[in-house]
Amino acid sequence: MKDLQPEEVIVERGSEGSPILQNLRRTLPQIPFRFVDDIAASNGSAGVVGDSFGAAKKKLYLAKHKGEFLKKCPGSDGQVCCNYFVINFASNCPMDCSYCYLQEYLADNSALKVFSNVGDLIDEVEATLKKHRGVFFRIGTGEITDSLALEPYTGMVRQILPFFAEQPNVLLELKTKSDCIDSLLDLDPKGRVVVGWSMNPQRVIDADEHATASLTERLKAARRVQAAGYRLGFHFDPMIEYSGWEADYQAMLEETFATIDWRGLSWVSLGVLRDTPGLKRTMRERFPGSRLLTGEQVLCPDGKLRYYQPLRVQMYRQMVRWIRHAAPTVKVYLCMESREVWEQVFGFAPSCEKELGNQMAPSS
Ligand code: SF4
Repeated sequence: MKDLQPEEVIVERGSEGSPILQNLRRTLPQIPFRFVDDIAASNGSAGVVGDSFGAAKKKLYLAKHKGEFLKKCPGSDGQVCCNYFVINFASNCPMDCSYCYLQEYLADNSALKVFSNVGDLIDEVEATLKKHRGVFFRIGTGEITDSLALEPYTGMVRQILPFFAEQPNVLLELKTKSDCIDSLLDLDPKGRVVVGWSMNPQRVIDADEHATASLTERLKAARRVQAAGYRLGFHFDPMIEYSGWEADYQAMLEETFATIDWRGLSWVSLGVLRDTPGLKRTMRERFPGSRLLTGEQVLCPDGKLRYYQPLRVQMYRQMVRWIRHAAPTVKVYLCMESREVWEQVFGFAPSCEKELGNQMAPSS
């Protein structure tokens, strides 16, 4: 996969003692480091003409995070929620998918940031997990960044993973489109860590998932972390409809289940392409040749554009059939879909978000 190293690292004063800075210094000896009093005053895209969002991905800012790290996944209005929590240890992503919602979500704050106060993160999560020992938490780190793309430089996951491995009521999910797993292989996740890959056929990766790992690289990395004791997750999301999608998605599933042992899969999620009118405007500017701009979509009650419902149901049913054929008992859920679609695909919808979240708890 493409080298994702930044062109410059800008460090906010107060982060000098962070182990993340030590890792960056060690792994990026040839990159200039600059120290500033306030990164907010040092805008990553200032002075850039043209693609300022793309330019922001090339400078890495290291600063303390001043708010809360742990948040409930916002989900989407009126859609079935899977009771997922997120930790934001970084913001923005060095890869560049044409459909990435961060282009809209972070439009006004696009700097690629990594947060240096790892101790505060652990203290905050520990307090919450201890306070609610009877509750099972599924926590992801890939909501506004990719969980592993910067790991070769920051070593962030290596810092936090031993803590999560010791917690009785959590699964930590590291969601990625990279193959940056080397630093995980000698750690013991103790059954508490899922490495989750977002998956698409190579044709979609080539067209719209720029600078990400190839399908073969993702699967090779999945096999390696599984051999090292990690649980796996797969997110076939966003599924893209085009002429011949069935053959490509079926072949991808066959390759996936031929590569890994599905009994070590914690969950599989499915979701179709979703965007908004605002995101589409940005996609038109940044990726005018993308075929994702040409398909027909309808505006749903949550303000997102999706394929029309009968097509979504048909795509989900087909995927569930292929998945069940290879992995009969694996947990499959829909991401950001309505109860109506759930019922048409599975014959039921979870009675509440807690029920769906609990279904994802490890059985052992
Ligand atoms: S890998 Fe994820 S976070 Fe990164 S650009 Fe693609 S969709 Fe966005």
